[in-house]
Amino acid sequence: MKIKVLGCSGGIGGPARTTALLIDDDILIDAGTGVADLAPRALAAIDHVFLTHAHLDHIVALPLLLDSVGPQRRQALIVHAQAATLEVLRTHIFNGQVWPDFSRLPEKDRPYLAFEELPPGDEVRIDGRRLRSIPVNHAVPAVGYLVSGGGGALAFSGDTTRTDSFWNALNAVAALRYLIIETTFVDAQAELCELAKHLCPAMLAAELTKLQREPEIYITHLMPGHEDAIMKEIRHHIAERTPLRLRQGQTFEL
Ligand SMILES: [Zn+2]
Ligand SMILES: [Zn+2]
Repeated sequence: MKIKVLGCSGGIGGPARTTALLIDDDILIDAGTGVADLAPRALAAIDHVFLTHAHLDHIVALPLLLDSVGPQRRQALIVHAQAATLEVLRTHIFNGQVWPDFSRLPEKDRPYLAFEELPPGDEVRIDGRRLRSIPVNHAVPAVGYLVSGGGGALAFSGDTTRTDSFWNALNAVAALRYLIIETTFVDAQAELCELAKHLCPAMLAAELTKLQREPEIYITHLMPGHEDAIMKEIRHHIAERTPLRLRQGQTFEL
């Protein structure tokens, strides 16, 4: 299994792309602006999208993808997410006003899109690849994902602030090789960080004391313009582990 980072920024501007991870050529975790760099043929190959939560930076490319390549696809693209996230998509995106309801269009019995509820903690297997959702703690209902294949496991936090459920789940995974975790703001923005339920470097350092495994650690969702400052603060707080900045285009093999 190969996991490619299509987008890993907390915002847009210049080369920054928002959150999306591509597993092999057919599964996405989140559908941020990074998805839009894929060629049409690659877009049409995506059969499953696993969402962490309903915030726009994680879903924005999904409606456009369906409209752009839906006619070339034979079956519905399946969106996997917890009920609260699917409800937001139905009510506020695919509502016939912001965007067509592709769960019923272009034909009711041959739609472009199917919603599949994935309760937090549950796992889906697709051709030997396992994706387990793990509840995290964000401003809206949100999960991270544990992706496992024959060569170990990768954990992705999605957007979160302080959490115990995520760390408890990871501590039970002996094969954990990689951790991708968000750090959105610098320490000086701690107040905003608390409000928006993200992590800043000091909070990340405290959170990592709960982790009993030693995966390679990569930082995602940094705010554009603050990347170097955030990574500098992380290096200051966390001397014993050496988190690296996640890079767009980076790949992981499992
Ligand atoms: Zn969010
Ligand atoms: Zn986000």
